[in-house]
Amino acid sequence: MTIPRLHFAHLPTPVETLPALSARLGGPTLLVKRDDQTGLAFGGNKTRKLEFLTADARAQGADLLITGGAAQSNHCRQTAAAAARLGLACTLVLAGEPPRNPTANLLLDQLLGANIVWTTNDARDETMKRVEEEARRAGRAPYLIPYGGSNEVGALGYVFAMQELMQQGAHPDWIVVASSSGGTQAGLTVGARLFGYEGRILGVSIDKPEVELSRDIVAALAARTARKLGEDLTFNASDILVDDGYLGGGYGVMGPPEIEAIRLFARTEGLLLDPVYTGRAAAGLLDLIRQGFFKKGEAVLFWHTGGTPALFADKYAGELI
Ligand SMILES: *Cc1c(COP(=O)(O)O)cnc(C)c1O
Repeated sequence: MTIPRLHFAHLPTPVETLPALSARLGGPTLLVKRDDQTGLAFGGNKTRKLEFLTADARAQGADLLITGGAAQSNHCRQTAAAAARLGLACTLVLAGEPPRNPTANLLLDQLLGANIVWTTNDARDETMKRVEEEARRAGRAPYLIPYGGSNEVGALGYVFAMQELMQQGAHPDWIVVASSSGGTQAGLTVGARLFGYEGRILGVSIDKPEVELSRDIVAALAARTARKLGEDLTFNASDILVDDGYLGGGYGVMGPPEIEAIRLFARTEGLLLDPVYTGRAAAGLLDLIRQGFFKKGEAVLFWHTGGTPALFADKYAGELI
């Protein structure tokens, strides 16, 4: 079965060790998978998803990509870059108020030529639908990408990311990854089954307090993603590990745990995390290590999903130093 895919990510992304951080924490062995280095306009995990989503858009004859997210959405920034690169128009439906001085991801969205439509959190879906209908009426061929690129097409990016990790010869006991719309964890889960990863995958929930629901979403998306590959696999929600203990002040709110994790990674390893996703997931990782959750001899791979441009958002920058 051939699955349409375009190739613009810088792959394979490196796997690096974090010896200073491991020593500082007294174990376990820490590794990082550098998906902050996927290459598309500062990169991140959405780039792998977009290789499949944009191929699907092309196959359907689309000339416009429509997606949505928060004002500082990394997914929207990478979608805008992919659209520019492929000669497609891009409309981003962003929740919030237009700031007077756009910074970070929002500045990049505009630099990359995306058209921005502002909406409220509650009206996001409705606004996306309206934008799509208006585009059709204007004679365009729009392609709608869900939040976070998390459907069975986008998640394929992480099925093959797991294959890539296996081909790199890395077999960590644990993979720890930020999880929000679930496509990354679902793809990794399918990839683990198909390519023989035998460790555990732990998603640190970024914004969903209901672990049961998160596990159901990931398991269901994993099954749909496998089916897309012609594989009839079942995934039990009880096999999906999600930790919702680190939600802090909610989505996009950077608090003391995130700030501590971002500083610690920066100052011991020269590695930059982001304020919304990887900062929170790393704060969870640090807490689990300090609680003795992992065994000393185990190897834990932190899957860096990107997001670093948000460090420069005026909303966060001032609190980080
Ligand atoms: C979108 C995003 C995530 C979450 O990925 P999902 O597939 O939506 O769970 C994690 N980290 C960063 C930096 C992101 O932009």
